[in-house]
Amino acid sequence: MIIKQRTIKKPVEVSGIGLHSGKKVSMTFKPAPANTGIVYFRTDLPNKIRFDASAEMVRDTELCTALVNLQGDRISTVEHLSAALSALGIDNLYIEVDAPELPVMDGSAQPFMYLIESVGIQELDAPKLFMRINKEVRVELEDKWAVLKPAKFGFKVNLEISFNHPAMEKSLQKFSLDFNRDRFFREVSRARTFCFMRDVEYMHAHNLALGGCLENAIVLDDYKVINPEGLRYPNEFVKHKMLDAIGDLYMNGKSMIGEFSAYKTGHHLNNMLLRAVLADASAYSLVTIDDGVIVEQDNSAQVAPSKVLVTA
Ligand SMILES: [Zn+2]
Repeated sequence: MIIKQRTIKKPVEVSGIGLHSGKKVSMTFKPAPANTGIVYFRTDLPNKIRFDASAEMVRDTELCTALVNLQGDRISTVEHLSAALSALGIDNLYIEVDAPELPVMDGSAQPFMYLIESVGIQELDAPKLFMRINKEVRVELEDKWAVLKPAKFGFKVNLEISFNHPAMEKSLQKFSLDFNRDRFFREVSRARTFCFMRDVEYMHAHNLALGGCLENAIVLDDYKVINPEGLRYPNEFVKHKMLDAIGDLYMNGKSMIGEFSAYKTGHHLNNMLLRAVLADASAYSLVTIDDGVIVEQDNSAQVAPSKVLVTA
């Protein structure tokens, strides 16, 4: 049996608070046909502006990952949903949102996984295309780096952060995961965004992160975690960075076969890596998986649309 593309069984709606605005945001997921990809719509704009998720549309902002179209319209805070879609292998989905940002939920990916699984996953009658990494591609920025390497099967993720903070023990700043739905759900999906008290004060003074609070982020002062409930995992910080990386690497909607490793990475570096791979036709192939066997596809049809934008 060949692995097939997936969408959801029926529409589902959720509302929550926008991280930037602090206002209520409503979002609806709808099933999409095969080969649609992950497509966002801003229903608050005239003509229901469409954003086809792709690596080239990604802009990272002070707080999150945004998709920006050629007209400069944006849709922000897409990375945690993207991680959930990656873990569930959703290839095709329409996402309608009535604001410039997605609801932040609890700052993790788990609410999105629950929501999608509550309506069920629908297999479509089309083979799923995986992106197999064929050679090592590495990007660096100061002392930070990120690399994708070939692997026989599956997607492995290794990540290390380096924070000098009393609440972040050195041994808890490194984590590896053989990526699949169950392990991601159990070990990573609940990891929340984190931020520092001094940054929160700065952001609020600049009208950013008005919706950010102890319900959707871990907040640290100079010594400790100030959330009364504490951490969800002892190593929640590195796990959240892993969740972000998984979401960032799924921004063009293709599950990977390969091994990702990174040190002190963030949205910008993750996106640089994905773009570097996509820019080099010898770095990857599109493949299907049939009875556990990887089958190379004709790559002549994979010409990437050349919508490279000027970086903001
Ligand atoms: Zn995040």
